Amino acid sequence: MLQAKDIHKSFGESRILKGVDLSLDEGKVLVMIGPSGSGKTTLLRSLNLLELPEQGTLEINGIHADFGKRLSKKEVREIRIQSAMVFQAHNLFPHKTVLENVIEGPVIVQKVLKNQAIDEARKILDDVGLFDYQNQYPFQLSGGQQQRVGIARAVALKPKLLLFDEPTSALDPELVADVLKVMRDLAANGWTMVIVTHELKFAQEVADEVVFIDQGVILEKGNPDQLFQHPKHERTRRFLSRIL
Ligand code: ATP
Repeated sequence: MLQAKDIHKSFGESRILKGVDLSLDEGKVLVMIGPSGSGKTTLLRSLNLLELPEQGTLEINGIHADFGKRLSKKEVREIRIQSAMVFQAHNLFPHKTVLENVIEGPVIVQKVLKNQAIDEARKILDDVGLFDYQNQYPFQLSGGQQQRVGIARAVALKPKLLLFDEPTSALDPELVADVLKVMRDLAANGWTMVIVTHELKFAQEVADEVVFIDQGVILEKGNPDQLFQHPKHERTRRFLSRIL
C-alpha cells in the first residue's frame, strides 16, 4: 500500500535522508522513532510531498512518483490526496467553528455537498468525543480537544493514509491520553497510519512495525517486540535506555 525506496533529501549542504526504504501494508500502523534531528519529520513530510526528495521512488495506493524526474502538478496532487497529515500544532482556522473546520477540506477542496459533509463530520466528531463541541471555536477548547479536531479534519478527507507528526508533543501531559485513545481507535478501525512519536509506550501498543531512524538512515526495523525488547544495534539500545 505504501512503498518508499531509496529516499534522499538534503537541505542545502546538509544531507538529511540518505537512502531510506519504507513499506507498509493496508490497515497497518508504522511508528518512526529516533533521536531529535535524525530526519523523522522530513521523511514523514516526504510521504505527502510537503518536502520533495531529490532521489527515490514513492508508491501509495498504486500511485507512483519518481523523484529523479520532475513531477507534474497532476502527479504531485495525486500523491498528496492519498494521505492527510496531523501536525504537532493543529493549525485550526481560529474564526471557524469545530464543525466548519472539519468540513472545510471536503467542501472546498473535494466539492462534497455541504449537507453530506456536515453529516459525515458530525459522525467523526462523535468518534473523537467532540460531538457536543461542534459549534465551539478552537480557542474555547483545550489543546487536546483542538488536536482531536485536527485528527477529525484529517479523517474527514478520507485519505488512504493518515500521517501523524508528533501529535502529542505540544500538549500538557494530562491531555495526551485522550489524543492517544483517538489514535488507538483509528488503528483498531483499520486505518493505515504512519506516526512519528516519542510516546514509546503507545508505540509498543499500537504499532505493527517500528523503524528506528538515526542520522538519516533506518538503522533498524521490526515489530515492537523485536525493536523494543531485543534491539540489535547499540545505538538503538542507547536511544531506548535514555528514553524508556
Ligand atoms: P525531532 O524529533 O527533533 O522533531 P526529526 O528526527 O523529526 O527531529 P527533522 O525535523 O526531520 O528531524 O530534521 C532533520 C534535520 O533537518 C534537522 O537538522 C533540521 O534542522 C533539518 N531541517 C528540517 N527541515 C529543514 C528545512 N526546511 N530547512 C533546513 N533544514 C531543515
